[in-house]
Amino acid sequence: MTFDIRDPSALSAADRAHLIHPFLPAAAPGRVVMTEGRGCRLRDATGRTYLDATAGMWLCQIGHGRPEPARAAQDQMTRLEYSTNFWDFACDRTVELAARLADLAPPGIDHVFFTTGGSEGVEAALRMARYVHHRRGEPDRTWFLSRLGGYHGVGYGSGSVSGFPDFAEGFGPMLPHVHHLAAPYPYRSGAAGPAEVTDACVRELEAAVARIGPHRIAAMIGEPVMALGGMVAPPDDYWPRVTQVLRRHGILLILDEVVTAFGRLGDWFAGRRTGARADIIVTSKGLTSGYFPLGAVLTSGAVAEVLGRDTGFPVGHTYNGHPVGCAVALANLDIIESEKLLGAADTTGAYLADALRPLEQLDVVGEVRRTGLMLGIELVADKTDRRPLPHGTYSVADAVRTETGVLVRGGPHALTLAPPLIMTRDEADEAAEALHTVLARLT
Ligand code: PLP
Repeated sequence: MTFDIRDPSALSAADRAHLIHPFLPAAAPGRVVMTEGRGCRLRDATGRTYLDATAGMWLCQIGHGRPEPARAAQDQMTRLEYSTNFWDFACDRTVELAARLADLAPPGIDHVFFTTGGSEGVEAALRMARYVHHRRGEPDRTWFLSRLGGYHGVGYGSGSVSGFPDFAEGFGPMLPHVHHLAAPYPYRSGAAGPAEVTDACVRELEAAVARIGPHRIAAMIGEPVMALGGMVAPPDDYWPRVTQVLRRHGILLILDEVVTAFGRLGDWFAGRRTGARADIIVTSKGLTSGYFPLGAVLTSGAVAEVLGRDTGFPVGHTYNGHPVGCAVALANLDIIESEKLLGAADTTGAYLADALRPLEQLDVVGEVRRTGLMLGIELVADKTDRRPLPHGTYSVADAVRTETGVLVRGGPHALTLAPPLIMTRDEADEAAEALHTVLARLT
């Protein structure tokens, strides 16, 4: 099929004819075909512009359309477009990025295994956890703990530990040795306060460990702040207390920082702020701000030492540590550092949360919450019993987009915002006003 890609209706027709979209029924009426981006703005094929309060998929920290990563990619491609990291080969850029990440990582985390994205990173982390125990002489540690409402990707391992049963329907059997704990979700837990939320979660964790058997559990995986779950932050003492329980039983902690790392919470990594002490950290998204598909799994020296024994870690993909991706990531980290975007996440986040707070007066808004530059607007059918909207908040996000041109993301319980870290105050005001217009109509 040949067509003029400048013709929006031809583009739309070709999209329908050939493109399989994740999570879209083929019969869905519209398509939004994006063609350009600058800063926090996107433009589609019809010329309509959008304010992107989602940073793509919560990843574009430095804003759209920047020349620096493009230059870094071009330099790298013309010097050496590809080189493998299998066996004793490596590429200079890949080594440079690994060393840079080790410098930025929390204390004790100093080794890096590269992937092309988040799901692949979670797969690698799950395999690492199993393999470390296997090599330490504990092959029965085959179980993983995770949380309902946690999202970890779409591989068979990452999909199994994800806490969204609907996404697994029709694909079973998934990994059998996975136990999902309750989410530390203060608004929905029914607990009187944060201390009770943590107490209940720790009690449940200890009971699960006792039931499964501590010597049979490889690792627990969790997002420091649940993103797809609705930008849900646990109480401050949750991660320190969970970490203590896991350490006591020799269970590894895998922190899924695919969304939270590289600035989203006002620091390079979330662990420093949340008190979680991970053995393995999975990252992707903000590592390149989406300018190249790349992920990095960071490990403690102790984990890396075991993986390095004998024949090494027998897992790797062709594009492991792709030099162009690593060059792009280095340029992206330079921008985050030189433009002090870590601080911006906190100040812009606080400003945006203040602008959104009046929404709590509306009948459909149960809560506006924020951690760093991750914001959730909990929508309810009834504020007194906190009943969620029957079909999630997806159609509300669609209405915000079509009526106001502001992009926010729907979820099971909450609308979510995670704009580029460079968002201005005017843009934050514009997003808040758009949400007010649409949500006030629903009330
Ligand atoms: N982990 C978290 C916390 C995520 O939010 C995502 C994707 O949004 C993933 C893992 C999966 O990453 P990817 O879509 O790059 O495979």
